[in-house]
Amino acid sequence: MKGFEKVYRGFSGSKKSERLGVSRPEVPPIYATSVFSFDRLEDMDRVFEGKSHGFIYSRIDNPTNKLLEDVLAELELSEQALVFSSGMAAISHSLMAALKPGDHVVVSDVIYGGSYALFKDILGSWDVEVDFVDIFDVEAVKRSIRQNTKVIYCETISNPMMEVADIPSLSSLAKENGILLFVDNTFASPVLCNPVMLGANVVIHSLTKYINGHSDVTGGMVAGEKTFMEKLLKIRTIIGGCMSPFDAWLTLRGIKTLHARMKVHSENAMALARLLENHPKVGKVYYPGLERQKTYGIARKVLEGGFGGMLSFELLADEAELNNFLENLELIELVPSLASVSTILSIPAKTSHRAVPEDVRLSKGISNSLIRLSVGIEPLEVIWKDISNSLDKLS
Ligand SMILES: *Cc1c(COP(=O)(O)O)cnc(C)c1O
Repeated sequence: MKGFEKVYRGFSGSKKSERLGVSRPEVPPIYATSVFSFDRLEDMDRVFEGKSHGFIYSRIDNPTNKLLEDVLAELELSEQALVFSSGMAAISHSLMAALKPGDHVVVSDVIYGGSYALFKDILGSWDVEVDFVDIFDVEAVKRSIRQNTKVIYCETISNPMMEVADIPSLSSLAKENGILLFVDNTFASPVLCNPVMLGANVVIHSLTKYINGHSDVTGGMVAGEKTFMEKLLKIRTIIGGCMSPFDAWLTLRGIKTLHARMKVHSENAMALARLLENHPKVGKVYYPGLERQKTYGIARKVLEGGFGGMLSFELLADEAELNNFLENLELIELVPSLASVSTILSIPAKTSHRAVPEDVRLSKGISNSLIRLSVGIEPLEVIWKDISNSLDKLS
């Protein structure tokens, strides 16, 4: 499996750990230190100048974080990766590395709420022009490109309609015009998609989601080409959105099961999508692996080994019934996040897409009774029993 070999053998294992006499710890330790000491002034000087290997200060670099970065670069098949305090820190630092006042960006009009707010409310005040476009209409993306366009920004799988972006076509378009293609690959994970292999320049993850996978870490990651990453490291050092070494260590632990988790997330979600489609209280179901999904053909090209753990469905119910459905669930909780080992659900109209004007929201199919399910890795029967019991209790 691409990238994964080293996760087990070279990185997470003992080979890179410090010797303790004639042995080494099987699991690398957490370097819970904010700063490092030197025997000689000259040594410190050499580390500052990049002439000797060493660490100075954990805002700049830390051995535990560095280990995670090496693993992530490997998983995303890219030259280098850097970790951040959150997914949003990863996105904002990487945009700072790519943009200056007067530049223009073309952004998918269906992106994560935090990213939407960043483009809409923050970049405007930095004098960066933003065009939100239908990213699934490559011709529309092409028409929106201008002389000063520097970045095209999209997500591999859109939230909550689960459409898949045509990364190969977008990357050709970006290359022809000397533009950087940024892909937020959070929903797919590096197991199902490696955007760099499809021509993307910059790949972003919220480590908070699948990569750590246990809802106990907040973190982010950016991977890409060395020259861009060097610029980004300088920005992270100055702006300071660095990750805690403890969170980096937990994420390294989470990654050991990433491959196995994504397989079960995908299998469970595919089966649930079919079960839901056939339930009389359920309207449309949105999942990248369903043939009647608009971008099914693209999903087959862009995703590999499964269609992920995220699906949405329309409950054929009014608001009172929607509440009954939620209350009748015994295991599945209403949680405004995703990608944990446990199945959780959210109502996009009330959570991630709260800030989107109602007419825009409805035009995208995000109705008040659309339910987004982050399918966990429990036995399928356990998840379906909870959902079907609750659906069957509706009149
Ligand atoms: C959660 C999420 C983010 C933001 O990540 P945080 O770790 O919460 O800052 C960005 N993009 C996508 C697609 C997400 O799901």
